[in-house]
This record gives sequence, structure tokens and C-alpha cells, in this order.
Amino acid sequence: SESLSTRDPELFGAIRKELGRQQDEIELIASENIVSRAVMEAQGSVMTNKYAEGYPGKRYYGGCQYVDIAENLAIERACALFGVQFANVQPNSGSQANQGVFNALVKPGDTILGMNLASGGHLTHGAAPNQSGKWFNAVQYGVRQQDNMIDYDEVEALAKEHQPKLIIAGGSAIPRQIDFARFRAIADMVGAYLLVDMAHFAGLVAGGAHPSPFPHAHVATTTTHKTLRGPRGGMILTNDEEIAKKVNSAIFPGIQGGPLMHVIAAKAVAFGEALRPEFKAYAAQVVKNAQALADQLMKGGLDIVTGGTDTHVMLVDLRPKGVKGNATEKALERAHITCNKNGIPFDPEKPAVTSGVRLGTPAGTTRGFAEAEFRQIADWIVEVVDGLAANGEDGNAEVEAKVRAEVLALCQRFPIYPEI
Ligand code: PLP
Repeated sequence: SESLSTRDPELFGAIRKELGRQQDEIELIASENIVSRAVMEAQGSVMTNKYAEGYPGKRYYGGCQYVDIAENLAIERACALFGVQFANVQPNSGSQANQGVFNALVKPGDTILGMNLASGGHLTHGAAPNQSGKWFNAVQYGVRQQDNMIDYDEVEALAKEHQPKLIIAGGSAIPRQIDFARFRAIADMVGAYLLVDMAHFAGLVAGGAHPSPFPHAHVATTTTHKTLRGPRGGMILTNDEEIAKKVNSAIFPGIQGGPLMHVIAAKAVAFGEALRPEFKAYAAQVVKNAQALADQLMKGGLDIVTGGTDTHVMLVDLRPKGVKGNATEKALERAHITCNKNGIPFDPEKPAVTSGVRLGTPAGTTRGFAEAEFRQIADWIVEVVDGLAANGEDGNAEVEAKVRAEVLALCQRFPIYPEI
């Protein structure tokens, strides 16, 4: 019954500091969000104690009647949210959701076709250092050099040449809507399954601000912690009963043991939140904010890959200012604006340096920022980048300190977790 603060002051201190960082800094990492207190309460609950291998009603442990309620709620709400028949809410992460689909639908040595990392794909879509790139014959498509858009003709040509069993659409840095119907047509031409990994934009789909991958996808995976604003975790959705059965066995006993029931409980809470009308307004605002941020950054002399965004995410091409992604990430961090360096398509710089940063609006929108705030944030980013451009990697300390103070004032106008 000892509280965390007295049981483990050192760890408690780290959590308080992290809370302060989130409260006082602007979060622009496109894959992050700010969950509700209710989601955290569920995740910090006694359900963490429970072993529940199996699925609701078919467990390998006793005493599962209450965690079954949680998992059934999560499944029902996920199905309602995405208009599908089947949901597996047990994957511990987005990566494990993808691994689960591979385990269900392909075998080591089979050919898979996914987007390359440099164009915005995810590691788990067949990148060389990832298991997906080692265990499968992973063929990769990219974007077109002239406009940085997905090259569907290349996808089709590669599919015809390599005859993949599985084609993956989706990624981690794709600012534009994906043509799911075209992907499905290509998959059908070669008899492949189409997996849409909607990890990044699932919350926009849930909120009606982005087309759904269904009915085009045979199966979709997602994380639950990005735009969807739930606890860290993954999920697999499908309308196909055969695929659903394979996916369930592929997750358990295929690649996971006891599901994280406290996380599944928190997923149920988040999906319940996403079913509310406010979430529609949230999703629409995320996109409007991203468009305002992109527009204002371009007015400040930066390039945006593809000239803008249809979603929550954008890639800023820093080359017009002659600065690098790594230096920009650090300088913005000194100004209390958090983002990540990110390669842009055909980036001449190494992955540890990069010519870009990736920015997203899900977290800022959750705390209440609208277009005016995001335009202000864009101006601050330009000021900090101009400081770097003029002074080299150390940037302009005076500008960074001024922005830091203004960021704090803005954050205090839009507080998060005031009660904690
Ligand atoms: N798929 C995509 C498209 C992602 O962007 C990510 C996360 O970065 C993942 C999968 C993996 O999710 P996780 O980090 O939960 O393993």
C-alpha cells in the first residue's frame, strides 16, 4: 500500500519530470498523442495481474470472467468503430500486429511487397534489418521522384514480376491518402492478400476524416496509440472469417503468450472515446491543423514533401534553409518543441543526419490547439531554423530562449493533466 513516491522516489521523480515535459513542451511527434485520464486509469489497474491466455470464453486460466468483459468490450467497440466483423485486440504493439498477420498468411521464404523505409514505409514492411526483411523475400516499392507520391505503376509492375503472397500498404511518413482500391486491384491481379497498415491514420479513419481501408483490405493492422489516442499497443481487423481464425491462432499461441489485459482494458476505454461525436470533431481538427502548419511553414520558406498533407503528418524538407534534420531536432528540443529527424524521399543525407523532420498534429490537437496555434508554432519553428541557418549547429540561443518562453506560455493556456 506504499505509494510510488515513497516506495521508489527515484522512479517517481522520472515520471514527474516526464509529466512536466509533456505539460510544458509542444509535442509534434506524429506517432504520439495524449491519452485521457480514463485510459491511464484502466492501464494502471489490477488487470495487469491477470493471466488470460486464449480468447474470451476460451481461456487457459481460471478467473477470467472480468477480463473477458474488458476484451469483449474492446472487440465490440473496435468492430463498431471501423465497421468490421472481426478484431483481435491482443497484439502488444503495431509490430506484433504485423508479425501476427505474417504468421497467419505467409511462410518464411514467401515473397511480400511493402514500401521501403526511405519512402515512408515501416521497418516491419520488409526492411532489411527487420525480421520481415530477413525471413521473407521482401520486395519494396517507393515513391516517384518527380512528386514523392506512391508509384502505383511501380507497385503493379513489381507485383507482376515477383508474384507476392502479401502486399502491404501504409507507412510511418506518408502525408497523403493512399488509393486502397488501386492496391486491391493490384493484389487481385496476382492473387495476393492486401494488408493495410493504418497505424498512423487509424484515428482519422475512426473519426471519419480519412477513407477506410475497408472493404478493399483483406486485413488491416494498426497501433492503438497514435491518432487513435489509446494505450500503446496493436490490433488486427478483418471481415474475413477464415483470416480472422488464422490471425487469432497466429497471435496466440503463435507469437504471444498472456495478453496484456490492463492494456486491452485501456484499449476498450479509448475505443469508447473514439465512438463519441467529439472524436469526429477531433479527427477533422487534426487534419485542418496539419494543413495550417504545413501552409505556414511553406510561407516561412520551408518545403513540405508533396506540397502539403491530407492527414495528420508532414515531412518538412529543410534543404531550402541549408540545415540538417538532426541539428533541427536538437535546436527545436532546446526551444521545447519536440519532433523527430526523418529522412525525406531520395534523401542525400545519412539516416542519422537526414534533410528533414517529421511533424504531426495529433497530440497538440488533443490539448486544444487549433489552426491559429499551429500557425504560431510554424512561425517559431521557422525562427529556430533560421537561427540554425545563420549560426550553424549551435543555433541562436537568444531566439531559442525566447521561443521556449513563448512555448511555455502557450502550453499553460492549454494545460494537460492538471489534476495529476
Ligand atoms: N506500422 C506503422 C505504419 C508504424 O508507423 C508503426 C510505428 O511506428 C508500427 C507499425 C509499429 O508499431 P509499434 O511501434 O507499436 O511496434
